[in-house]
Amino acid sequence: MKIWLDGGLQDSESARVSVFDHGLTVGDGIFETVKTVDGRPFALTRHLDRLTRSARGLGLPDPDHDEVRRACAAVLEANPAPLGRLRITYTGGHGPLGSDRGDRGPTLVVALGATNRRPDSTAVITVPWTRNERGALTGLKTTSYAENVVALARARERGASEALFGNTAGQLCEGTGSNVFVVLDGEIHTPPLASGCLAGITRALAIAWTGAEETDLPLDVLERADEVFLTSTLRDVQAVHRVDERELPGAPGPVTAKAMRIFDERSGHDLDP
Ligand code: PLP
Repeated sequence: MKIWLDGGLQDSESARVSVFDHGLTVGDGIFETVKTVDGRPFALTRHLDRLTRSARGLGLPDPDHDEVRRACAAVLEANPAPLGRLRITYTGGHGPLGSDRGDRGPTLVVALGATNRRPDSTAVITVPWTRNERGALTGLKTTSYAENVVALARARERGASEALFGNTAGQLCEGTGSNVFVVLDGEIHTPPLASGCLAGITRALAIAWTGAEETDLPLDVLERADEVFLTSTLRDVQAVHRVDERELPGAPGPVTAKAMRIFDERSGHDLDP
């Protein structure tokens, strides 16, 4: 596979990043996962804006949007179809072992990953660990994902595909790689950004297209919600048919099914911005 590194295309087998790259040694990096529609990046401007917000939050130099756009186009062009998702990674670059950053500048990698066809509905678990809604990294899409790796492994052990976190205030927050929505009395609600969740791009589109409300929700709303669904770049809108031991028979329910339909209709073509 051809990937983008150090300003040009390289073979993924021989491409090399320093073993002292801060992305590797201390998780000092940010990323974006971008789906492709008709061979083109979907909602790339939104992803680039979030990449810049994440970079600023980490004190990394602003990523060069033109370069990232060129890199995405070059990687899509250089690899044979079927084209999966683009993965943009931007790290603190080669640096000393420790938390101080070096001065050689950031590393930018753009690679392609597979797109897995997701089922219409899935099982989720809740985990006892909390998102910190007031942390230095809250809301940033950093490569420090180990907590998500652990939670997702727990979900897999229990036959689920996602793990949902509450925050330190006991409110519902998000999944390891998705945002969460609940349906109560026919109305759609999702936790506000102040809950500590990532500003998901699919979340923003789902709110705009369904009129979902941003509402503080206690974690136990999952025990009584009529319907639950997830949103993410890799899932689009996906219904939940089990939360922990609670079955939600018939998922996707009517409200989720409508949200899925609206999302499919409006996101089935390149959307940028
Ligand atoms: N929350 C977290 C922690 C994520 O990692 C992701 C996506 O990777 C999302 C939510 C969903 O965001 P998006 O819709 O932009 O993919």
